[in-house]
Amino acid sequence: MTTQASPEAITVEALINGQNVKSLSQSAKENPANPTEIVGYFPDTTQEQAVEAIEAAAVAFKTWKKTSIEERVASMRKAIEKIRAAENEIVNLLSREHGKPLYDAHGEIYVALMWMEFTCNEAAAALQEQVTEHDHGKTILSYDPIGVVSAISPWNYPIALSTIKIAPALLAGNAIVLKPSPYAPLAAAKVAEIIASEFPAGVINVVHGGADVGVELTTNPKVTKIAFTGGTETAKHIIKAASDTIKDMTLELGGNDAAIFLESFDVNDERAMRRIVVSNFLTTGQICMIAKRVYVHRSIYDAFVDKYIEAANRWIRIGDPFDPKTTVGPVNNLKQKEYVSSLVEDAKQRGAKVTPLGTILDQKLFDQGYYLQPTLVTGCDAHDPIVVEEQFGPTVPILPFDDEDQVITLHNESIYGLTSSVWGAEKEAIAVARQLEAGTTMINTAAVQGLDVRFPFGGFKQSGIGREYGTEGIRTYTEPHVINVPNMLDLPYIPE
Ligand code: NAD
Repeated sequence: MTTQASPEAITVEALINGQNVKSLSQSAKENPANPTEIVGYFPDTTQEQAVEAIEAAAVAFKTWKKTSIEERVASMRKAIEKIRAAENEIVNLLSREHGKPLYDAHGEIYVALMWMEFTCNEAAAALQEQVTEHDHGKTILSYDPIGVVSAISPWNYPIALSTIKIAPALLAGNAIVLKPSPYAPLAAAKVAEIIASEFPAGVINVVHGGADVGVELTTNPKVTKIAFTGGTETAKHIIKAASDTIKDMTLELGGNDAAIFLESFDVNDERAMRRIVVSNFLTTGQICMIAKRVYVHRSIYDAFVDKYIEAANRWIRIGDPFDPKTTVGPVNNLKQKEYVSSLVEDAKQRGAKVTPLGTILDQKLFDQGYYLQPTLVTGCDAHDPIVVEEQFGPTVPILPFDDEDQVITLHNESIYGLTSSVWGAEKEAIAVARQLEAGTTMINTAAVQGLDVRFPFGGFKQSGIGREYGTEGIRTYTEPHVINVPNMLDLPYIPE
């Protein structure tokens, strides 16, 4: 395939100790809607440069950790204003390199800024030292920074899932080395550069590349915390890599989130039907917390499927990410397109029915880009790969269930437990929700529509370790440090 740089193509460089650092070679990022067009270039950071970035962070940390929370918050607020001012430019870049429609790219900035604002508002309280006078003396509990944080982000929400780490890590007094994904490196690098402009040199460093650079970030002894969002298989490598130096870790991983529709759900509720369709196909289904398998009570199953197809055909308009009519863009990369296609093909081979959904707005564009027509899969077995694997793309299986115990078992037997949703009468839905093994369960909505950055987010089981968002998402970048001043210095049971 012959490629050509777009007239607007940009080049980003690694950021090490406040300096843009040239690289010996660079990689091109193509436009998923038109893979012959190069949106920009990013460096192939070498292992030596990754080491330099970590060392710069380690040096900067020594001074940065002594700054006041007020100073850190003031810098972050200035960075937020700069991101806001550059929003349209960032959104255009994100949309072109990622393939997400413009409204969705704006949505990503919206979520990122909401979280950054939250950390600015809450960090002082979350990190406040607590002094307790008690019968046994006095205890001081402080939340100390951990040191150098390796922040490794995925391609699906490159800005939101980078800033989710940068903001709390810096406000807690750490220094950071960010590595965005090579599948969406440009807009995340731009945002990190904007934030870095408000902080001292070395406090934020940015490197680029894939697993090779990732390995340095997860093994280097100067790194004391890893904040990783990505696939469960990658996390297994990271856990092994980090084990030699026992690093602190927050791991936000894959999910196979179920949406459960109880008998009390009203299939004629058009707003709710639209919400579930959006919960399946927003960002072309490439969200960790998208509803990836749908279970519907058998008594309403047939009517549900009919109404679902109607709602999906109304909402899904597949087209140019820059066309305001488009709701669903291309898949981000060829590998993912092939993987999702293979799952759908496998379901067909097993006898499932595959129903295409939505309208293709521009057939020529569709044929040239990494597009996939969204599909609904029915008539599949509860343990088929399309149901038990994380498809991370524009297809969804809908299955019937007979009773709540059965669907709770199906939900909980997954290796994942990120989010889930229960739809129907509120009281019954909450009763079912309480029995689900998931970090977040939403009632009558799902995916980002039910996300609340004020509360902790993360997964049970192989969906991760630890939490982001909420007060937990700030304290996760700290080590609780206890200073005990007991009034009984010599314990009575220890012999003289
Ligand atoms: P991925 O695991 O392939 O890559 C994530 C990041 O890890 C990238 O920056 C990549 O370059 C880097 N990486 C790859 N190998 C590495 C290694 N050996 N050491 C260190 N770093 C390495 O994931 P992806 O395809 O970019 O993202 C999709 C996955 O992320 C899905 O499974 C999705 O569910 C998950 N995800 C989870 C959340 C969450 O909050 N739980 C959010 C978004 C995405």
